Amino acid sequence: MDYDPLTPLFSPLTTLKGVGLTVGALIAKVAGGERVVDLLFHLPESYVDRRQRPTIARAQAGQIATLAVEVVRIEPPANTRQPWRVVVTDGTAFAELVFFRFNREKQMPMGAKLLVSGKVEEFGGRRVIAHPEHVVPADRPESMPAVEPVWPLTGGLWPRQVGNAMAQALARVPSLPEWHDAALLRRETWPSFIEALRAVQAPTEVPGQKCRERLAYDELLADQVALAVVRGRLRTRPGRALAGDGVLREKALERFGFTLTPSQTTALGEIDADLSSERRMLRLLQGDVGSGKTLVALLAMLRVVEAGKQAALMAPTEVLAKQHHRTLSRLSPEPVALLTGGVKGRARSALLRQLKDGAVRMVVGTHALFQESVEYHDLAFAVIDEQHRFGVDQRLLLGRKGELTDVLVMTATPIPRTLVLTQWGEMDVSRLTEKPPGRGRVRTSLHSLGTMPELLEAVTRKLDDGAQVYWICPLVAESEVVDLAAAEARYAELRERLGERVGLAHGRQDPAVRDATLAAFARGDCRLLVATTVVEVGVDVPAATVMVIEHAERFGLAQLHQLRGRVGRGAAASFCLLLHEEWVNDSAKRRLTLLRDTEDGFVIADEDFRLRGGGDVLGTKQSGLPGFRLADPIEHEGLLHMANRDAAVLLGNDPKLTSERGRAVRVLLRVFEKAAAMQTLAAG
Ligand code: ADP
Ligand code: MG
Repeated sequence: MDYDPLTPLFSPLTTLKGVGLTVGALIAKVAGGERVVDLLFHLPESYVDRRQRPTIARAQAGQIATLAVEVVRIEPPANTRQPWRVVVTDGTAFAELVFFRFNREKQMPMGAKLLVSGKVEEFGGRRVIAHPEHVVPADRPESMPAVEPVWPLTGGLWPRQVGNAMAQALARVPSLPEWHDAALLRRETWPSFIEALRAVQAPTEVPGQKCRERLAYDELLADQVALAVVRGRLRTRPGRALAGDGVLREKALERFGFTLTPSQTTALGEIDADLSSERRMLRLLQGDVGSGKTLVALLAMLRVVEAGKQAALMAPTEVLAKQHHRTLSRLSPEPVALLTGGVKGRARSALLRQLKDGAVRMVVGTHALFQESVEYHDLAFAVIDEQHRFGVDQRLLLGRKGELTDVLVMTATPIPRTLVLTQWGEMDVSRLTEKPPGRGRVRTSLHSLGTMPELLEAVTRKLDDGAQVYWICPLVAESEVVDLAAAEARYAELRERLGERVGLAHGRQDPAVRDATLAAFARGDCRLLVATTVVEVGVDVPAATVMVIEHAERFGLAQLHQLRGRVGRGAAASFCLLLHEEWVNDSAKRRLTLLRDTEDGFVIADEDFRLRGGGDVLGTKQSGLPGFRLADPIEHEGLLHMANRDAAVLLGNDPKLTSERGRAVRVLLRVFEKAAAMQTLAAG
């Protein structure tokens, strides 16, 4: 096999000199990977400019400064627990350097002229630098780095170690072809990839915006080209034109008894167009819980059955699969089968036979639907519910069941536009933007926790009027014990006041106890449910019309929106009371007022994304997007859209990436490890 020039980038960090197992592991921890490339993409969060040379009199406390000084006094410590003090001056004032470990002869004899760099602090009017980061002779300024990157570090890892490893890592970057368009580079005045990387990671001066932009654009273009390659591949596989006579659909709508909402009609139109075209459908159907996605999915499936083919709906859990099965069975004129891990023995083998010979044409299930052992007679359409946790690679796998299978993914998490572009770029999008008529509005109001007595009275009145109430207490991992205690205290208090009608559910309970409480709430025996966020998913009690959220300022927007979605599920008007601390910061204030003023999940998702950097949208706790290391899709949103267009034009002209630029872009895809796209290209 030919030598691959990119190999050094993907070799372990421990192949660098001075990086043993310990340091390697520490770097891997902060860089998020244990290979050279992970270190190269571990960007500094800021820079220290050692060329800042104020006089001592003008040095600002709290800042890093380099002082040109002369040693005028050395004070040995009175005992071993005290530090050495070295008094210095530059003629404008005196300063003290403080050392715990000190070698007088070597470091700083009396009268020595020095450049000293470190963080200046002020104690009782004296300027002090404790443990200066650099001390060099005044006549050798070049021996102090002019500019030092400040990388995110971890305990036991020092900047010097990262700097040393980084210098070697940079030296390993092979010469790479330029993958960007020449005109674009000129217009943006961007440096080359390696120049930008050096300027950022081993700077001789504080790097300008252009370097960061260039690197961000490299990553964004890799991402967008990869998605477009995969998408192009999926599209060129022929789909099949599926047309139905509308008979089953009409029957279903008759049973249903309502008319479709405008956005259901639009979405169904888009789906029908996909089904009847020769292209393969890859569509994302977004809409809040309760926006009517299931009905759209059913009508789409029926059309496929009308065309004489099979359709499947996959849910993420067994419980949800059963729920879908019930809903579909109620409305569908065509029988619907259920296949989960729980279906065993003779029932299972009978069902598998019927799926294989085509006797069963509609099936709902868990991922069991796509196991090896399940064969279909002619599966033409798969609906996937709640797939947003899966990446492109997993979604691709699904297509393997039937190369010709049209795919509709449903998600109840409104996905911000920017995320759709980066994480779902291979799919078309339909959105359900309104709730079906007959569903009550949720009136949201803000209350300071100080008004608790009045709130309790209002809630008691609601209960007496027959309402059911969710009472949510926050549960944040770091302070779990305290939070749990607070939830239990609230429960005790409400129980004392309101009696047997009050129940408690949280994640630390015995599941059997918790499930019993949730079931009692669903039956209506329990009227007020004190809960931590366990109710976020999968609890559906249409009769509950009041939601109280304590310490709402501690929740994220998307989470509050999901919680609020638990009420307003029936026809009656609902209420959401957001209780907050007397004083909340500006960002919390913005979150809460936005929530009060809108129920539109898409508006909320976009804003949440802006405020939190997409942190929780995909259920990942870290801020920033999974998979992005050099780009920040919020800061670089403009570049993302540019990369999206750039990729489309590039692949339009050169779909197989065989031109000179195309080949360079293949290298880019490898540097950023776009495996699915590389495989797709290799498959021709
Ligand atoms: P989702 O799957 O998006 O959570 P569902 O499809 O389960 O939403 O619909 C939520 C509720 O709204 C269901 O009770 C459903 O019967 C009802 N519904 C859906 N579409 C309409 C409509 N066009 N008119 C009236 N009710 C509707
Ligand atoms: Mg649903």
